[in-house]
Amino acid sequence: MNRLLFERMPKVELHVHLEGAIPPDTLRLLAGKYGRRLDEDPGWPVLRDRTFRDFRDFVSAWMLISGCLREAEDYTLIAEAAAREFIRSNTRYAEVLYSPTLDAVKPIGVQRITEAVAAGFAGQRGRLEVRLVADAVRDNDPAETLALAEALAEMRHPLVAGMGLGGSEAGHPPAPFAPAFERARRAGLRTEAHAGETAGPESIRQALDSLHVDRVSHGIRAEEDPSLLDRLGRERIPLAMCPTSNWRLRAVPGLEAHPAVAFLRRGLAVHLATDDPAIFGCDLAGEFTRMDEAFRLEEGEVRALLLNAVDAAWCPDRDKARLRAEIAAFFAEEGAASRGA
Ligand SMILES: [Zn+2]
Repeated sequence: MNRLLFERMPKVELHVHLEGAIPPDTLRLLAGKYGRRLDEDPGWPVLRDRTFRDFRDFVSAWMLISGCLREAEDYTLIAEAAAREFIRSNTRYAEVLYSPTLDAVKPIGVQRITEAVAAGFAGQRGRLEVRLVADAVRDNDPAETLALAEALAEMRHPLVAGMGLGGSEAGHPPAPFAPAFERARRAGLRTEAHAGETAGPESIRQALDSLHVDRVSHGIRAEEDPSLLDRLGRERIPLAMCPTSNWRLRAVPGLEAHPAVAFLRRGLAVHLATDDPAIFGCDLAGEFTRMDEAFRLEEGEVRALLLNAVDAAWCPDRDKARLRAEIAAFFAEEGAASRGA
């Protein structure tokens, strides 16, 4: 398959941060609104050149972006911009992480931020379906995450499907967040955690055993522990694999060293995702293209990556059936076209 087919293919994205999906023109607009000069910010060279030495450089780029978000209406603006990008790349369904507890916006409150994000995506119905996942910051006190879970439970916003755990994984293990995740689950929310990206297999095990997450984001360092790989396969734990993100942040030495396809071929429930497309300069079609170039994906493997995402999605069964039908129709048409050629 080639890049054009990957672009036309109906896609499902389950791991993309709204704050990491702000196109450059929208970011400039927001920076101008608050009188910030992007080129004077310490995070700007990293964001402009995409030269990350490690996760700390990512944090400086992230701080620059989050410093441009101050009012609820900013979230509507960035959701509208992200929606346009999803539609452009033929992403048909997206679960979008957003971080309502960032310091600058915390006073706005979880409910107003959530409503503002939802308003930004509301105009796209029919072309793009979206669910939201509120992402907690593991660098902060676990009590903050518990408060987030309480707020989500109280709010019961129809678009919010789950809660995640993000931030700096190394040095911030999952276990202390167990009460917050328990609260979220009791409220009927689904859960996920970044694990096995910048910390090792133990971080993944804790996310599964202490937080009881439904999905793991990244999980690449499971490759250090064959018994964990066996478990992930046996339990069909969905893994969001983000090759460009891992490569840019030097979690893997090169795309050809990324374990996504090896995991898939071992029977793990892998799907591809972009993580922070505007920060890393990627899109979902590009993630498929890069894995195909490095590993020569068979058509059945491309389909499996798509269908694994549908299976792992937190939307109603009727929406999943529609997505599966769209994917099947695409491959049937492609098959007919290539036989006719
Ligand atoms: Zn992420």
